[in-house]
Amino acid sequence: DAKRVGGSGWRAYDPASTLRRARSRLLEAELRTGLDQGQFFLLFQPQVSLTSGRLAGAEALLRWQHPTLGMISPAEFISISEANGFICDLGQFMFREACKAATSWPSHVSVAVNISPVQFLRGDLLSDIRAALAASGLAPHRLHVEITESIFVERSEELFSKLDALRDLGVTIALDDFGTGYSSLSYISSLPLDKLKIDQSFVREMVSDPATQSIVQAVMTLAHGLGLKVVGEGVENALQSEMLAAMGCEEGQGYLFGRPQSARQIQALSAAHSLLSGGHDVSLGALA
Ligand code: C2E
Ligand code: MG
Ligand code: MG
Ligand code: MG
Repeated sequence: DAKRVGGSGWRAYDPASTLRRARSRLLEAELRTGLDQGQFFLLFQPQVSLTSGRLAGAEALLRWQHPTLGMISPAEFISISEANGFICDLGQFMFREACKAATSWPSHVSVAVNISPVQFLRGDLLSDIRAALAASGLAPHRLHVEITESIFVERSEELFSKLDALRDLGVTIALDDFGTGYSSLSYISSLPLDKLKIDQSFVREMVSDPATQSIVQAVMTLAHGLGLKVVGEGVENALQSEMLAAMGCEEGQGYLFGRPQSARQIQALSAAHSLLSGGHDVSLGALA
């Protein structure tokens, strides 16, 4: 009986981890029904130009509104979906919904979709993207895909040919959460990237830690040398935003500029914003 604590070789009963496993099994069993019944939806978080203050794009973030368990975080269901392959079905849904949403926004506003490593290597990624672009009529460059450094753990031929094929589709490729993974600054110079997103942990720490600030500055210089645009993630206050702008960072994303919100709210935000700014310096932070 696993519930007997201590003694010779019995494992202690851990109610918390038993509960976690049960919840995990329940979620896994209900993913398919959840998707079929429309319980999954996308929210979009503003990405703002730090030079003009205008809305530049929005990142699609997946949500699961479960009928009895309430709102479930992607941190929880993405890993479950990766483990059982369901992430490929979710991916198809994400690309379709994200491209459709972006067609209701002004043409200078892009939409970013996250791709997990499992999706990248296992799924029929390219045909999903091609289908979503064709169905929506969205210009390919307006679709940004966010990959993380963890996809480069296995530096296979297949990986690079998929990246090149993505490139050939005309979509924009962004490296997400930069600084938290494995790649060195020199390694990223060999990849077909358009954009680099500095992880929120650096943005948080740079304000009080000069060493972190130097790292961010070095990353910025290298990225610009490679012709990449830089986005600062997790921007929560004006000081962080101003420091990033002073270092030449093109875009910011974070609660200062807006929480993840509906596609219609993004549309309203971009409309309100062009009205206010006439295309010139207004801080979206004031509107968020
Ligand atoms: P990510 O791609 O790095 O997304 C940014 C996460 O940081 C989001 O959490 C966002 O809500 C949060 N965030 C944004 N601004 C701030 C801020 O100012 N402060 C703080 N503390 N947090 C901020 P979320 O939506 O819970 O997503 C977590 C992760 O789940 C994402 O990280 C991404 O890796 C994954 N994910 C979300 N949606 C999808 C999806 O559709 N497909 C895949 N494959 N992964 C997804
Ligand atoms: Mg992302
Ligand atoms: Mg990120
Ligand atoms: Mg992240």
